[in-house]
Amino acid sequence: MKSLLLLPMFAATVAIAAPKVSVVATTPDLAALAREIGGDRVDVKSLAKSTEDPHFVDAKPSHIVTLNRAKVLIDGGAELELGWLPPLLDNSRNDKIAVGAAGRVTASSGIKMLDVPTTLDRAKGDVHALGNPHFLIDPKNAKIVAANIAQHLSQVDPAGAAMYAANLKKFSDAVDAKTAVWEKTLAPFAGAKIVTYHNDFIYFANRFGLKVIATLEPKPGIAPSPSHVANVISTMKSNDAHLLLVQPYQNRKTAENIARQTNGVVLDVSQQPGAIKNTDTYIAMMDNLVTTIANGLKANK
Ligand SMILES: [Zn+2]
Repeated sequence: MKSLLLLPMFAATVAIAAPKVSVVATTPDLAALAREIGGDRVDVKSLAKSTEDPHFVDAKPSHIVTLNRAKVLIDGGAELELGWLPPLLDNSRNDKIAVGAAGRVTASSGIKMLDVPTTLDRAKGDVHALGNPHFLIDPKNAKIVAANIAQHLSQVDPAGAAMYAANLKKFSDAVDAKTAVWEKTLAPFAGAKIVTYHNDFIYFANRFGLKVIATLEPKPGIAPSPSHVANVISTMKSNDAHLLLVQPYQNRKTAENIARQTNGVVLDVSQQPGAIKNTDTYIAMMDNLVTTIANGLKANK
């Protein structure tokens, strides 16, 4: 008889639980920020996997369904997703997440973009035609994006506004406290020279006083050519640089080949939460990035 008595109570609980706000982010880093701000009022999905190149995501029919049902879409902007998101959005037919709608958060708005080209270079295959879109690994930028997300969530779901504001403050305070630690960890390596596969570490380098002296791709999105690889090797040798940073979706073999010829070392890093163990939140991911790079620089002076 007990179970029969419980049944009406269960039904009542279901009736008062408000449906969660469905939030879709193009990439896991943006999804992680949405979870920080939205807490249990939101249901967050990322279209890209943490091990996928954010420029070249495998578009699937299921993405269209996800976008069709979304109340909020967070995209990186600055053409990060130009190669795959526009057709998915067209097919999703969802005005709630159109550019300019309350349900559309463009992460790059309010961000001071670096590497903005003076002339548009798209014809040569450059995927950074509006400036470098990998800005979230500067913690100051993560705070700006989190504030954008809080503002839009409050518009779409006014009943949660106080909670979104409280979560934003909590996140920003945590990022500030951690930034001081990260700066201290990397301070001994001020001016250290690093090499990256794609041009995706300049915001991090600027914030923490490192220098990206070469990228394996001759231009963002263009595979390394033998002549460019030869240039990278000579640049590394003349600068006495030894660290090559590679993300999971980038060609590690090319980096290993260069490392062998420069007495260098390949570091596996990720800017996407979840791609590497114990990096499920933005702060955990940044912790991992800072520690991995600091340890790499320490061991390869
Ligand atoms: Zn890029």
